[in-house]
Amino acid sequence: MVAARIREPAMVHPVFADLPVTVFEEMSGLARELGAINLGQGFPDDQGPLSLRRKAGEALIEGSNQYPPMRGLPELRRAVAGHYGRTQGLDLDPDREIIVTSGATEALAAAFLSLISPGDEVVLFQPLYDAYLPMVRRAGGVPRLVRLSPPHWRFDRAMLEAAFSERTKLVVLNSPLNPAGVVITDEDLALLAEFCVRHDVIAVCDEVWEAVVFDGRAHRPLMGFPGMRERTVKIGSAGKLFGMTGWKVGFLCAAPPLAKALAGAHQFLTFTTPPNLQAAVAFGLDEPGDWFETMPAGLQRSRDRLAAGLRQAGFSVLDSAGTYFLNVDLAASGIDETDRAFALRAVREHGVAAIPVSAFYAQDPVTSVLRLCFAKGDEVLDAAVERLARAKGG
Ligand code: PMP
Ligand code: GLN
Repeated sequence: MVAARIREPAMVHPVFADLPVTVFEEMSGLARELGAINLGQGFPDDQGPLSLRRKAGEALIEGSNQYPPMRGLPELRRAVAGHYGRTQGLDLDPDREIIVTSGATEALAAAFLSLISPGDEVVLFQPLYDAYLPMVRRAGGVPRLVRLSPPHWRFDRAMLEAAFSERTKLVVLNSPLNPAGVVITDEDLALLAEFCVRHDVIAVCDEVWEAVVFDGRAHRPLMGFPGMRERTVKIGSAGKLFGMTGWKVGFLCAAPPLAKALAGAHQFLTFTTPPNLQAAVAFGLDEPGDWFETMPAGLQRSRDRLAAGLRQAGFSVLDSAGTYFLNVDLAASGIDETDRAFALRAVREHGVAAIPVSAFYAQDPVTSVLRLCFAKGDEVLDAAVERLARAKGG
């Protein structure tokens, strides 16, 4: 009887019944299998700041390995508040407005589960990070998609008018935007804030890339815009702040009534996050040295190296203002192939993995943009350019 039930597709929630493995896992899997250079999934080939890794090691051996407080180590919550106060002008109460999660992924899940009721409309922007839609749907949300397209990936008033309604409960914004590599402009943030206030909507802001911005830019959190302080859930990730993507330590920041609901979901998703990693992240935020200048400066050099090589090879390269990613427009580069077909051929025949941006669309995809991760050493980038040039041919 039990065996029959688990074979029956109806026993599986429809959101997960046919969900494929993520494009990041697919491309990294192919890269591993074929020994290809991996410019697909976004992770640096550098192992991250040694001082933080030492601190985590010490905390593992000398410190507590038992449950830390549910909302996170007090020292980490204070460090997060201090960091966002110094770098983004936010005034967050560490006791009532910050919750430590197991990565931004858990923070997103906690936000969707605690804020969406079945039938609530949720405005999201395509291209969208792969975790958003399944989790929004699983929470009972009805997605309303705003489609952004290259080269500027911007939204305007008419697009927001078409997406927002009296049933809108949440809007999900990712800035800097993965995979586009753009930073949402102040003008667009102000416009979105106006819509959130007018429609009484909560903004879930995925700001994991906030520290990875280039050319002298400073990250502007939507939470800092008029009317947004009480209606924004700001999400960060230590994995991205310190370039150690396997460190699943994230943060939820929100006004106390929202934070209470978020904590309610967090306590039954993971309850806590490893205390040793939390201690090391607190140390890194309190004593960053020049990390938050040297890290983006180094990545900016890598971005420029990859962009120059690709242009030299005849690719049409889109601007990147933040994230680890640079995009090429295949059609504008004279390549008559979809992004997915090109990506599969590049990894199988030329030994270089990339991510087709069409994977970030649920409907009406942009199909000629390829995302490349430049958080790699110079030799890796140079070798990848050579291989991509061969894949391009001509
Ligand atoms: N949101 C975005 C936009 C991301 O790019 C990522 C991962 N790179 C995440 C969330 C997940 O972050 P974490 O690894 O902290 O769960
Ligand atoms: N955020 C990473 C990227 O965009 C991937 C994270 C993952 O594989 N889940 O490449």
